[in-house]
Amino acid sequence: MEHKILIKKIFNEVINPGNCFHCGLCQGLSKNLFKMSNSDKGPTPILLRKSNKKDIPDLKKIVHSCPGRGFSFNFLSKKIKTKKKSKILGNYNSIYIGSSNSDLLRNKASSGGIIRSVLIELIKMKEVDYACILDEKKNKILDFDILVTNKLEKILNASQSIYQTTPLLHKLNKLNKKKRYVFVGLPEHIASIRSLKIKYPKDFEHIKYLISLYSGTNMYPGAISFYLRGNGIKNNKDIKKINWRYGEWPGKLRIILKNKKTLSLKKFYYNYLIPFFISKSCLITPDFTGELSDISIGDAWSPKLEGIGHGFSVIISRSKKIDLILRALGKKKINLEPIDQKKAISMHAHMIEFKKIGSYLRIEKLKKKGPVPLYDLKPKNISLLRRLIEFFIGLIILTASKNSVKSFFSFVNSNLLGFFFQILRQIWKKITKTTKRKGLNKIKFIKIKNERLREFSN
Ligand SMILES: Cc1cc2nc3c(=O)[nH]c(=O)nc-3n(C[C@H](O)[C@H](O)[C@H](O)COP(=O)(O)OP(=O)(O)OC[C@H]3O[C@@H](n4cnc5c(N)ncnc54)[C@H](O)[C@@H]3O)c2cc1C
Ligand code: SF4
Repeated sequence: MEHKILIKKIFNEVINPGNCFHCGLCQGLSKNLFKMSNSDKGPTPILLRKSNKKDIPDLKKIVHSCPGRGFSFNFLSKKIKTKKKSKILGNYNSIYIGSSNSDLLRNKASSGGIIRSVLIELIKMKEVDYACILDEKKNKILDFDILVTNKLEKILNASQSIYQTTPLLHKLNKLNKKKRYVFVGLPEHIASIRSLKIKYPKDFEHIKYLISLYSGTNMYPGAISFYLRGNGIKNNKDIKKINWRYGEWPGKLRIILKNKKTLSLKKFYYNYLIPFFISKSCLITPDFTGELSDISIGDAWSPKLEGIGHGFSVIISRSKKIDLILRALGKKKINLEPIDQKKAISMHAHMIEFKKIGSYLRIEKLKKKGPVPLYDLKPKNISLLRRLIEFFIGLIILTASKNSVKSFFSFVNSNLLGFFFQILRQIWKKITKTTKRKGLNKIKFIKIKNERLREFSN
């Protein structure tokens, strides 16, 4: 009956309360037992058949590494050997600002083109046989899948960020254990694979390198239909091509329609879609940078770099081997400038705070209604004002996510909404800046002992 208990755990703790991170691990590790199925609230697993005794080893792995149950980041990060400690960025060896020296890589990139530079180097150095990356399916619009490839041209073309909840771990069983892979994912995918590598080292040693994107917010699939409706277009099928970060950094959302018309909206304008479509998973995780990766990469936001333009990445190396690879790349192929932790934190102060303090407050609230993901750190002393700010954030998201509200706003022109959202965002940032930054500078964490930590420690 153990298999039934394990299945119940996944449904009762994760899927039914809406704590699924849409990662696809349950499909990727089982044999035709789960399948990811699309829904308005992102892809979610469904059962394809009844479980049996033979499923137990797979189910144990899934229960162990399901992001919807949370990760003991503090405990697990100690399993990775690093020189420096940080409970905010995750432990690390070195931090840089970087950009590719190749126009081909940098012009089409999300930020500095660093992810694809590292992937190409790992393949060329024969450190890995294949890269696992997210890409749009051929001739399909807004339909993404993991691509396992060693073709440099394909890696080069799979650039830019995809802001849509998408499974990435649903093909893990299909990887050949005799080959070596580098895997690119969001923090939850990386934490899931890392926890598997720690618990079952032999079974997952073929996944040699873990590259994490920074991830602040992600959106449910309806966001683009909503944007199109705001431009008088009723059907996603009218899209010929979509880019989320097209052109000069930070890039635009650019949609080419089949009637040859082009729609575009600046990155900071299309952030107006976030309150309407933000995924619950990114509200209930404290991991912004991908703390259990070998290397994490995000946008290097700073007035100076934004003024220079062309795209810059912030890079956190957490592995000796990655340090060497970055140094080799730094000789010719990428431009690297070491920075300290303080500078890296200041580039993303708002989002780090949103994750490290905000997620804790949101989870506290959800705990009253049912199971929540469990983590092993909590912030000490959160001010009343910060709690009040969280109350307003929650209210905005709750209101905006209602179908009736979405339906009303979907008919408002997207440029207008984007413009107003940008103004509101600036005002909001100013009002909350002192409280939020004060919170971040003084932040202290307390260790929590819970069932999840016991599972990882055994
Ligand atoms: C949902 C999401 C939220 C993000 N939030 C932030 C943020 O708040 N702050 C910040 O600084 N950076 C954020 N990023 C990361 C940032 O957008 C860039 O991806 C990062 O700076 C790397 O840029 P690059 O030029 O080195 O990547 P590129 O060289 O352009 O390569 C991009 C790589 O990312 C992969 N990729 C794209 N989308 C996804 C996805 N959804 N899941 C897995 N892999 C993907 C591609 O396959 C490709 O390999 C986010 C990215 C995503 C997808
Ligand atoms: S978070 Fe991932 S492993 Fe957990 S239920 Fe959702 S898809 Fe499955």
